[in-house]
Amino acid sequence: MNQKIDIKSLTLQELIEELKNRGEKPFRAKQMYEWMHVKCARSFEEMTNLSKNFREQCEEWYEYTSLQAVQVQESKLDGTKKFLFQLADGNVVESVWMKYKHGNSVCISSQVGCRMGCRFCASTLDGLERNLLPSEMLDQIYAITVLTGERVSNVVVMGTGEPMDNYDNVIRFLKLLTDENGLHISQRNVTVSTCGLVPRMRQLAEEKLQITLALSLHATTDEKRKNLMPIANRYSIAELMDACRYYFEQTGRRITFEYSLVGGVNDTDEDARELIELAKPLCCHINLIPVNPIKERDYVQSDMQRILSFKNKLEKNKINVTIRREMGRDIDGACGQLRRRHIEKSDL
Ligand code: SAH
Repeated sequence: MNQKIDIKSLTLQELIEELKNRGEKPFRAKQMYEWMHVKCARSFEEMTNLSKNFREQCEEWYEYTSLQAVQVQESKLDGTKKFLFQLADGNVVESVWMKYKHGNSVCISSQVGCRMGCRFCASTLDGLERNLLPSEMLDQIYAITVLTGERVSNVVVMGTGEPMDNYDNVIRFLKLLTDENGLHISQRNVTVSTCGLVPRMRQLAEEKLQITLALSLHATTDEKRKNLMPIANRYSIAELMDACRYYFEQTGRRITFEYSLVGGVNDTDEDARELIELAKPLCCHINLIPVNPIKERDYVQSDMQRILSFKNKLEKNKINVTIRREMGRDIDGACGQLRRRHIEKSDL
């Protein structure tokens, strides 16, 4: 049997075409698109201005993804909420909702698990299970919009998974997310974070989107980076910097470097000096992240004094730098921790 079409992953144009082939007028497609992408409907059944007969037929014809929240944790420190969602096949993914002065931000997962193997990251400990569909990435944002009753204005693809390892689905997701007929989130309010798949970064540059590209750098020499991130065996820092320059040339968008500070590993004065050398020639912003220790590894956070002195050194060299606020520290804030605890519990 043919697999059913995943209807929420279609663009408006594709949906118009699809329903036309079923003998439906374009306005039906527009109504349905609005139910899915503006009103965040969780099923065909909710689409009450479409006939019951038509809704029932759609159920037969199409796949309609939707998520079940299986766990919600709220931080007492800053109101951050962490959601564990179950997908139709029983897999779980996590998403985070953060409230900032400038609006609400959601951090979504792009894959179930991850195969990149970064040493400090909990998402990768069990490897990659599967890619998420564009609809399943949208669903995380739509479900959170419904559950919180608040509009999402910023999206970061920084949860579990390597977005550049699920390239086509992520691009389609970005187009749907920022489409004027849908939730219409401004491209400038979307950030995609990568551990550095160079050919995909270049391809992304050529899409000429106005999104922010964040590169997880975490080390300033190839040798040190290889100890933290296996992907560094594939692409050198020189190649990464070239790809970042290319991204800026193509899009005019400033690059973000993420640099997780690990005590005694990448937080020395020498590291700061080398980071300055890398950052100076580029139009970039550096986000320092105090590493969030995970129990499976013995990495520790740099102490606050070290973090501040590191930041100071960069600032003195006129480099744009911020320390990432640790949101939801009390609720398994680090990538993949919540999902992992959930899986561990159900394995018992
Ligand atoms: N795969 C993408 C996005 C996911 S992780 C990437 O590698 O960029 C989002 C960011 O959090 C990355 O910079 C990642 O390296 C970092 N990160 C993962 N686990 C962490 C931890 N325990 N402490 C601090 N940063 C972590």
